[in-house]
Amino acid sequence: MPTESLAELVRFAPDAYGVRWVNHVALFIVTDAGVILVDANGQVNPRTPALIKEAIRSVTTQPVKYVVYSHSAFDHSTGGAVFADTARFVGHKNAVDRIKAANDPTTPAPDIVFDKKMTLELGGRSVDLYPADLSATDDYIVVHYPAGRLAMFVDLVQPRNLPFRTLLGHPERIVERFQWLEEKLDFDVIVSGHASPQMSGTKQDVVEQRVYYRDLSDAIAAARAAGLADGSPEMATLAGSILHAKYGAWRRFDEFLALNIQGMIAWRAGKSPSAH
Ligand SMILES: [Zn+2]
Repeated sequence: MPTESLAELVRFAPDAYGVRWVNHVALFIVTDAGVILVDANGQVNPRTPALIKEAIRSVTTQPVKYVVYSHSAFDHSTGGAVFADTARFVGHKNAVDRIKAANDPTTPAPDIVFDKKMTLELGGRSVDLYPADLSATDDYIVVHYPAGRLAMFVDLVQPRNLPFRTLLGHPERIVERFQWLEEKLDFDVIVSGHASPQMSGTKQDVVEQRVYYRDLSDAIAAARAAGLADGSPEMATLAGSILHAKYGAWRRFDEFLALNIQGMIAWRAGKSPSAH
């Protein structure tokens, strides 16, 4: 069989690193007064948080002072308890009840909670945390480390991937958020928390994701103009034929296109199709 790389430690910026186990990526930033970690990724593999802890130890003796939740979904949020001896837990207000409801002793609920921009200061470094505000119930955040020219937006900016299933928030809000990333946030590297097809992207990947939402919207409009019913297989087939030339090589094109169409229509009709 071909060899497969299961785990990886990479440097995104002079003091910012990524730890990958298979398709999940955690981010950590090292300062002179401790480490800021985003996500423990301990659901798929319960040993991943311990692996992350050792990876951090391999580059610094500083303890983890903050564990930041990129959002509440358990594949990313599980397992931070291995850092509880030194860390506080930081997350969006909407993530608190979801994490508490899971009642998982390995996953402490956030004790530093925000629903507006918040800045973590540690060792002379600043990390800005922004609620993504993709819907009323959304708990995704955007992490920005200005000194490292680095951003993290888990799940939403996976280069050359179709958006997840029925979209992770209102499509117009997602597009606005991408425009904000492009115009207002200074960064060279953006991390998605995933590794397929790669562990990081650039501003150009944000642009491509944003344009996909516009092209998807146009394809739905074309299918409607052709008399095809919302969410019908015929609509998915026609939209697929329109979008294939540009996006057919993107990951999960065949798997998620029909769901993306259903999601865009549902969100615009005022429904929340995905409990993520
Ligand atoms: Zn994810």
